[in-house]
Amino acid sequence: NTAVMWFRRDLRLTDNPALLDAVAAGDGQVLGVFVLDPVLWERSGDPRREHLAASLRSLSQSMGGRLVVRKGDPAKIISAVAKEVDAASVHVASDYAPYGQQRDQEVEASLKCPLVRTGSPYAIAPGRVLNQQGRSYMVFTPYYKAWMEHGWRQPVEAPSKITWVRADGEKLPDGDADGAGEEGARERWADYLESVGEYDDQRDRPDLDSTSRMSIPLKWGELHPRTMLADLAHKRSDGAQAYARELAWREFCADLLARNPEAAWKPLRPEFEKMQYDEPDELFDAWREGRTGFPFVDAGMRQLAGSGFMHNRVRMVVASFLVKDLHVHWKYGARWFMQSLRDGDLASNSLNWQWVAGCGADAAPYFRIFNPITQGLKFDPHGDYVRRWIPELRDLAGKAAHEPWKHGGAEGYPDQIVDHGEARRESLRRYDAIR
Ligand code: FAD
Repeated sequence: NTAVMWFRRDLRLTDNPALLDAVAAGDGQVLGVFVLDPVLWERSGDPRREHLAASLRSLSQSMGGRLVVRKGDPAKIISAVAKEVDAASVHVASDYAPYGQQRDQEVEASLKCPLVRTGSPYAIAPGRVLNQQGRSYMVFTPYYKAWMEHGWRQPVEAPSKITWVRADGEKLPDGDADGAGEEGARERWADYLESVGEYDDQRDRPDLDSTSRMSIPLKWGELHPRTMLADLAHKRSDGAQAYARELAWREFCADLLARNPEAAWKPLRPEFEKMQYDEPDELFDAWREGRTGFPFVDAGMRQLAGSGFMHNRVRMVVASFLVKDLHVHWKYGARWFMQSLRDGDLASNSLNWQWVAGCGADAAPYFRIFNPITQGLKFDPHGDYVRRWIPELRDLAGKAAHEPWKHGGAEGYPDQIVDHGEARRESLRRYDAIR
């Protein structure tokens, strides 16, 4: 008896219920496989590919080098692998994203043995948190309350005994990423837990760089959110509670996307189908390259390009700037983020873009338009964040870095590409036209 464990977004051995099921079905004999699917590989940018490659190396190492990696169409590969070892069953954690769901149906149809789905990348699988009428939520706060009340299983241990079955595979892809893999994720999380009590007070400050950066291990399931929630429950601080609430945002996004697959690129509020946007042109290029002349926006976009990461507050401000100052459709920004982010995740990305663009389920009201300068002054009060990412501003002390034009300018730093007041009025005019 051999079972196949098909790893996807669960690159870990601990707290992996699908793996436990595979071990039980195979009497301890398991073939572990990862498919490099060209569709997903090509949609990712370098930062995400690098992390995935490094994480696969780490996973394979923890399997004594026996992870089988093959490249191509998952339906062909998984059925071939199952046939080679005459598998009793193939085991996966459910995928709720649009492409993943369709792919899994195709794989299931091509298999001669069952495809067994156990668990998901979430504490509570999408579609399970329902109101009293049995309907899903469109607004976060009541979702969050019901999510907390629903509760989740306790984490499970890694299987005690597995014989990893050998099979031919490709060389693991090349890639290096700091702390990638299950062990790195655990270490990062253990470190972060020490200071989670301050999360609530500091999480909006990009200059302090005090958030957890767990979005990256969460993306690949190097650590399961259930494990994190179990640790947070022991902390009982306001910070720990605020952190759990952010994990609920991640699950809310996945829940919305699972129920509305078109929300990946289309507005959830239908009136926004008629919103007038401008085609992306050289202003869009300036945004991507961090040359808008608005320091907080430029610092964020340069952090993204330089490190594959951006602080959440700054993500909100740069997204708002693209949609409401440059009047470009959010889908272009969302696509750029997916290519550039190390934690790029379709559900969290598209639904957050929709939130900022005012067209999401529980979106920020459209008319509340961020002022990119006052946002910078408020959340980077000493200018440290903008100076870190924009060398041209390094001679401006303190908060002066947010308004170089008031302090004699900064050599090499561009002028503002739009007038924020005028851009804001234009946004409101366009919004009035669809209301
Ligand atoms: P922390 O503040 O330490 O938060 C802890 C965890 O909570 C995060 O790791 C994440 O899993 C979750 N979380 C926090 N805020 C959110 C949120 N608003 N929505 C969903 N989950 C959240 N997150 C992604 O993981 N992938 C994306 O592609 C992505 N795109 C985004 C695009 C925009 C326009 C915006 C405004 C936000 C986006 N986010 C995305 C959400 C959020 O910005 C990141 O999860 C967060 O910045 C990651 O940093 P962290 O782990 O240090 O966060």
